[in-house]
Parts: sequence; structure tokens; C-alpha cells
Amino acid sequence: MTAPRSASWLDDFSTRLAGLDAQHLRRTRRVVRPLVGAYLEVDGERLLGFCSNDYLGLADHPALVAAACAGAQTYGVGAGASPLVSGHSPANAALEPQLAAFAGLPRALYFYAGYAANAGIVPALVSEGDAVFCDALNHACLIDGARLSKARIHRYPHANLAALECDLAASPAPRKLILTDAVFSMDGDIADVPGLLALAEHHDALLLIDDAHGFGVIGPQGRGCAAHFNLHGGAASPRLLYMATLGKAAGVAGAFVAGSEALIEWLLQTCRSYIFATAPPAMLASALQASLQLIEHADHRRSHLQALIARLRSGLASSLQHGDWQLGESVTAIQPLRIGSNAAALAAMAGLRQRGLWVPAIRPPTVPAGTARLRIALSARHTLADVDRLVQALCELAPHPQA
Ligand SMILES: *Cc1c(COP(=O)(O)O)cnc(C)c1O
Repeated sequence: MTAPRSASWLDDFSTRLAGLDAQHLRRTRRVVRPLVGAYLEVDGERLLGFCSNDYLGLADHPALVAAACAGAQTYGVGAGASPLVSGHSPANAALEPQLAAFAGLPRALYFYAGYAANAGIVPALVSEGDAVFCDALNHACLIDGARLSKARIHRYPHANLAALECDLAASPAPRKLILTDAVFSMDGDIADVPGLLALAEHHDALLLIDDAHGFGVIGPQGRGCAAHFNLHGGAASPRLLYMATLGKAAGVAGAFVAGSEALIEWLLQTCRSYIFATAPPAMLASALQASLQLIEHADHRRSHLQALIARLRSGLASSLQHGDWQLGESVTAIQPLRIGSNAAALAAMAGLRQRGLWVPAIRPPTVPAGTARLRIALSARHTLADVDRLVQALCELAPHPQA
């Protein structure tokens, strides 16, 4: 007999979805096919995109494609098991010391995704009774890792090292771990890594930096934020764990964490998202080896990117100086144009789309409420003319205050 149907929480989902619609928070996916340059086919329409983290334009590079194909020919497509069982291929094994050398740290561990890396690394380092210290604008996966760890979470105001120092000094926890984005993913600003490391040294803490948006782009030869601040090689601190993703500037997929021999060996032994997941396919490790070679010699791509950033910032500074839209302080390829309300950010995105441009509107919970924005991502794929076109369109759309 089936019981008479009464109200169930199952019915809540459609109500809650309608709630998302009412707040302009419903998200949709589009089917996107990359075209030549920074152009994309979005649901069948050709648009100039400012939406990709492929900062160096390597994702379709022939050398990477060839390396991936060769890797598939040699090793097949799937790894078949966890790296601790039988999934650790010769390509994956060769990649790790290359990643470590590139970042200038003793040893590296290669993960299938950055989200999984952070969600696993934090609980492998700290647990109940310990404390983590999180910048308020950290990426979701650092926060999720902190929650999974059951350590006490202290959130300090964005980039406020004085507040962090107070929290560290007041905490009686036996193990303290500071977590930060190195380049903040929605604001593009760079963390004061030397200042954070000095606090870590002083308070017997560890520092994990997530360089998803710096690796390949920042520092000499694109070696990332640790190298940018000269915290690599002989100057590397055993308290620093450097994590970066490989699906952004590196143009492939996955992530790695690098640090001292002992810390990396500990993660290999205890990090659950590493141990209980199938290893990344060898074909990706092959592609990543090719990518590291290219990144090291991509100064022309990085200087072109710098020229694009300067062009965008000077163009917007002169045209938006009296309006409500605020261009964030960022020297990186992530250029946030803060608009405020969710509806206004979506309207700006729609206006750009009508003009053949695609720039994502970023809304809460990805960014704090009231700070919805256009997240303009530049890539070495863009031309100066592409940037000029975006600046022109934004000028047309920006609200101009009454004189
Ligand atoms: C993209 C991103 C991640 C997640 O990396 P994936 O490899 O895409 O899972 C982690 N941290 C930051 C700051 C990111 O921007």
C-alpha cells in the first residue's frame, strides 16, 4: 500500500529554485565551443570572450595536443586506480619532480583537480582542536577543506594581516594553519605572501597558498607567486605549502602541491582526496610536461598579457571615472568591474552580449552580497583591438551620472 501523499521536503526544491530566480541568482550553463583567438561559439552565437582562465592561451596549443595524443597512445586513456594502487604512471611520476623544480620547492604531489587538492590537504594537516585562519575572500575549496578538517575556523578581513596577527596570538590551538589565495580569484589582487609567511614563522603556523591564478603568469618564467616573492629555491621555508592548479594558465587539468619532503610525504600518506580517487590520466601528465616547457619560455605571452592589462585599465580609468562602476585594484589578468546589484550585473552582461562580447557576471555566493561584478579575464589570446572593443562597449553601457 502506498501511503497517502503528504507534504514532503521533496516539494521544497521547486520553491527554493523559484527563490533563486526571484533574487537573480539562478545559474545557467551554455554550450561553448572555442573558435580562433579569444572567440567562442556560445549556444551557436559567435562572441568575443573575456571569461577564460587560460591566461597564456595554451589550452589548444599543438604541442600540448600532440603530447596528450602520444600519452594516450602509450598509456591509454584511463589510469584505472588510485596512485597508491596502480594508477601512478611513468608520466605522472616524471611530472612531479618537474613541477617541484618549476616551483622551486623540494617535492610535489600531482592531483586530479585543485578543488580536491585543497579539500583534502587541509584536513590532512589539522583536525579537531587545531585552528585554521582564512582570508575572507578565499576560494570555496579552501573553506570546504577547513570545514572538513573540523579545526576551528577564524576568518580575517581580506588582506588584513594585523587582524590575522591578533587571531594567531589569541589562539591556544596546538597546530595553526593559514590559508590564502595567492592571487584572489574574483578580485585579482595578490596576497602579501612574505608578510603571511613571517606571521607563520612567528606563531609556529603553516601557510598554504593557493596560486591557481598566479602559476604560469606571475614571477620569473611564470613560476608563480612563491618565485614572484623570491620564496623559492634556497629561500624556501619549510612552513610554506605552495598549491597551484593546472587547468588555468597551464592549459590542461589537475593541480599540485609542493613543499618540504616531510610535508609532501605526509600528504601522500594521509590526504584522503589523493588516496581515495583515481589517478589523473597519464595523457594529461604528458600534456603537462609539454606545457611546463612552453610556460618557461613564454615571456612573449606574459608581456603581451601585461600590455592588454595596461590597455584595459587605462581605457576604463578614463571612461568610467565619474560613474558608479568601480574597477578593482588589480595588476593581474583578473580585472573585476564592480557593479553592485545582481540585476545590474546581469543587465551589463546582457548588454555586452548584444554587442558580441561575453564577460561573466559574478554574483553571490561567489562574491560578497552587494558586490556583483563583471569578472573580466584577459588572455594572451586577446589582441589590443579586442580590449579596445570591450572598453568601448563598457563605456556605452555604464550609467553616467547626471551633470
Ligand atoms: C579554479 C580554482 C580552484 C579549483 O581548481 P580546479 O583544478 O579547477 O578544481 C582552486 N582554487 C582557486 C583559487 C581557483 O580559482
